[in-house]
Amino acid sequence: MLDFTYHMPVRILTGRKIVSKEGDLLRAFGKKAAVITGKSSAAKSGALADIADICTRTSVTFQVYNSVQNDPPVANVLEIAAEIKQFQPDFLIAIGGGSVIDAAKVVSYLLTNGISPETIWQKPRLSPLPLVAIPTTAGTGSEVTPYAVLTVPEDETKKSVATPLIYPKAAFLDPAYTESMPREVTINTAIDALSHLIEGFIAKRANNLSDILAIEGMELMAKALPSLPKGEFTSSCREHLLYASLFGGLTIAKTGTTLVHALGYSLTYYHGIEHGRANGLLLGAYLDYMQNAVPEKVALIVSALGFARLEEFKDYLRTLYSLNLELSTREIALYVEKALKTSNVQNTPGEISGYVVADILERSIS
Ligand code: NAP
Ligand code: FE
Repeated sequence: MLDFTYHMPVRILTGRKIVSKEGDLLRAFGKKAAVITGKSSAAKSGALADIADICTRTSVTFQVYNSVQNDPPVANVLEIAAEIKQFQPDFLIAIGGGSVIDAAKVVSYLLTNGISPETIWQKPRLSPLPLVAIPTTAGTGSEVTPYAVLTVPEDETKKSVATPLIYPKAAFLDPAYTESMPREVTINTAIDALSHLIEGFIAKRANNLSDILAIEGMELMAKALPSLPKGEFTSSCREHLLYASLFGGLTIAKTGTTLVHALGYSLTYYHGIEHGRANGLLLGAYLDYMQNAVPEKVALIVSALGFARLEEFKDYLRTLYSLNLELSTREIALYVEKALKTSNVQNTPGEISGYVVADILERSIS
């Protein structure tokens, strides 16, 4: 039975040299752009030079703000918004990984609704500035999602803003921009994308259309998975990873994520484990539980990813990651409590008790 709603307001443009080919459309968003980036990847990837060229060609004045931190904390985003406010841009261009795109999404509505910590968590009253997103990692799919994830030190966790108002207006995806990613960043971001595809397929909020997107993304991912342990990435592998990440974003834009993301936030916050790696560590034990809750879905995941059995896929994940983290009972109880409070857990099929979450965590870190 077909039963779904679908809304995807991002104009998605993909392909090599896409910024040079289609960049004229920037002009539709105004004459002044604030370009938001992290420390150095926008320049290293080549995307910043392409944006500078197209802005010059289309008479768009721009200024670069390069201080987004990884897993951006609230204070970092507020500072960037205050700095950009002086420039009074018509629109924003984010060049970077999920950290940069997420920070820019929040800046986009702080500039129109007032720059304060309270504004971040309220539903924006006034429309944000238009945002153009240019990913340089192949992982979060943030260029097509209505989410922004920030680190909130007061709550000792990461929290999401979720509103359709923060969808970028356009996303330019050029696989060439991901080629400068070091091996570790490539693997971690790829496993984040993989996690979006798997969790989005399993999520209670999944529907017929999101399932098609997830399966397509997993089939693309299957072509790239053998390259990850070797650390060798051909240009076609970079394409597969970037488009798998895009399909992951398209999937979770509809379905949201599940328990893996909720629990992973504590591994990142308290132990500095990169977002994708945190997910990758948890996926195996999570899938063991999901095999009981939704066995037919797990079987489809395993085969779409090119494995014969779940155990084979879990072995593959173990070749990428292992961790020996000693956690006290108090720490485990805290991380479980934080995860159980999230909507991600409501979105996970099966009986997700504190015991189940603790068991997944303990099995993933030893
Ligand atoms: P990231 O935190 O944006 O970037 C990680 C590192 O990779 C940074 O040091 C960055 O350098 C570097 N880098 C990025 N692109 C590069 C390139 N082409 N060449 C060389 N270095 C490069 O990583 P991410 O995994 O893409 O984003 C993670 C964040 O996104 C987390 O906060 C996560 O919670 C969030 N997330 C959001 C969504 C969503 O829907 N909004 C979904 C999943 C995850 P620079 O600092 O120099 O840029
Ligand atoms: Fe993620």
